[in-house]
Amino acid sequence: MNFSSVCGHNKNIDFLKKLFFRDRLPHALLFSGPAGVGKRRVAAALAAFLNCLNPDEKGACGECSNCRKLSSGNQAMVRFVGSSKDEEEMNIQFKNGSRILLKNTIAGSKRGGKKKTRKINIDQIREVIRQAALKPFSDGMKVFIIDDVAQASIEAVNSLLKVLEEPPRNTFFILITSKKALLLPTVVSRCQGLEFSFLKGKEMHEYIDNYIEPGKKQAAESCVEAAGGSPGKLLELMEADSADFKKTRIENFFEEVDRWCGDSATCQKKLAVMLEKEALRFRDKPDRESCRRVTLIDDAIEAVKKNANPSLAVSNLFLQLGKVDL
Ligand SMILES: [Zn+2]
Repeated sequence: MNFSSVCGHNKNIDFLKKLFFRDRLPHALLFSGPAGVGKRRVAAALAAFLNCLNPDEKGACGECSNCRKLSSGNQAMVRFVGSSKDEEEMNIQFKNGSRILLKNTIAGSKRGGKKKTRKINIDQIREVIRQAALKPFSDGMKVFIIDDVAQASIEAVNSLLKVLEEPPRNTFFILITSKKALLLPTVVSRCQGLEFSFLKGKEMHEYIDNYIEPGKKQAAESCVEAAGGSPGKLLELMEADSADFKKTRIENFFEEVDRWCGDSATCQKKLAVMLEKEALRFRDKPDRESCRRVTLIDDAIEAVKKNANPSLAVSNLFLQLGKVDL
């Protein structure tokens, strides 16, 4: 479970290692950047590194008692705080066969609304603060990985701010977000920020070589361009492709949408992936029209995710796009 198993992000990893070996690693880190590029994976490798009894330049050894505890998921050093499903877990599989299994150990309370879309709430952060204040482990560090921090409730963020200001000894906080612009400046200023970027083409091919099972490599290669440097997006596209989704022609789009609507969760997912695929065509073009299209498509994706009627959301999108060569 060491850093050499992470695809890309070498600059950030080197920076983290350098600070660690100089005993200068800040106790509050903020990993920001596009979704699906590997921020959680680096956070997990760093958490293992901080707790490993024999760390070296490559990262955690994967064999000491602490590393073994992390692989089994039966440990108390690293806590994962998620924003969504109760059963969510961060199961990071590394190239060398080892893994880090973090259950959503500080899940939210069951009160209030649908479980799947719940934000990180105040109870979760209170529990983080309580656990952070406990006596440190004699042979390890407490690491709290707080995922989707931009989705946390205002009360949760305000509470988090206090502990970020004066983190307890031997405790690290790794905040993760793909929406840094939505974070309060006070959160950003209390953390050492690390920006993560999309992987380069060569790194995406390395990812396919190392992590995609042999029978699916060809499918992965056919989606790699549309994935735009995000392994997470690549996996989504592959999943969509496997449902014959890729072959959907825009002329049949509405028929397809109607067909998918039988299962609203699947419909939302498929639509979001398809629209995102279209948006990718325009994302890197700096002209005004491309920006307008991307904004409209992003709005439609958000609307679909928020349970808008899929057919209606798509009709609206097409109306606003006007005569567009999709
Ligand atoms: Zn170790």
